[in-house]
Amino acid sequence: MKPEDDRHADLAAKLRAAKRAVIFTGAGISTESGIPDFRSRDGIWTKMAPIDFADYLASVEMRREAWRRRFAMDAMFAGAKANRGHQAVAALVRRGTVFCVITQNIDNLHQDSGVPENKIVELHGNTSYAKCLSCNLRVEFEPIREYFTQHGDAPDCPACGGLLKTATISFGQAMPEREMARAQAAARGCDLFVVLGSSLVVYPAAEVPVLAVRQGAELVIINREPTPLDDLAGLVLHAGIGDTLDGAVRAL
Ligand code: NAD
Repeated sequence: MKPEDDRHADLAAKLRAAKRAVIFTGAGISTESGIPDFRSRDGIWTKMAPIDFADYLASVEMRREAWRRRFAMDAMFAGAKANRGHQAVAALVRRGTVFCVITQNIDNLHQDSGVPENKIVELHGNTSYAKCLSCNLRVEFEPIREYFTQHGDAPDCPACGGLLKTATISFGQAMPEREMARAQAAARGCDLFVVLGSSLVVYPAAEVPVLAVRQGAELVIINREPTPLDDLAGLVLHAGIGDTLDGAVRAL
């Protein structure tokens, strides 16, 4: 592995040369905030299989289980703070180097680090609030948690009576069209596309970096482990995100 200073310098050089960069994040950027990723050995999936969207719709038991799991993770999500990686991304947005942050994460930590909402594209939604699956109304967790504690079930939508669900995209659920279109437009319009902490195996999200490369952007990947797109990248750093990105941003 290259010495740390070289890695920072290589990455800083790419960032310095970029006119319109995009950052694309996955669960790996938030592990340093105490939120486990999906595929590492201590990841969430190794402990429990995800609930498919069809099962959520079909079964009251599955919906109860989904809410039980979500509320069991309250302390973890509420206690998580944006880390050095998130702060470095926010600094790149403030400098004007990065015009769009596309995230597969649902933890709200890019917003918490100060990236403006209009520069964030959430491909898989957000787990800090709920939405009605029929009328799309945003519903905060507090009344849902209270109802769940009393009845062991979530309430129906207060506006239309539809099913409420955390505002995340489950397996089998349609991708949010507007967010996908925004992500694709950003990929088409960038000259540098930086992936931070994603195994790049979840589709269609993992198509977005490929689109950027096809349109002529340079790809940079920072991930502890190899990914299927490493061969497409001009720079691959198998290293921790916090140290690496923070070091590069300080070297700018
Ligand atoms: P993933 O778990 O498939 O991959 C994460 C990758 O990050 C792994 O390859 C791992 O080696 C790497 N990694 C972990 N910590 C790192 C660090 N500190 N520095 C560098 N690399 C690190 O995650 P994914 O690609 O985002 O796909 C999984 C799906 O899981 C996403 O759709 C996302 O919505 C969801 N998810 C989100 C969160 C969150 O919001 N924080 C947490 C778990 C899962």
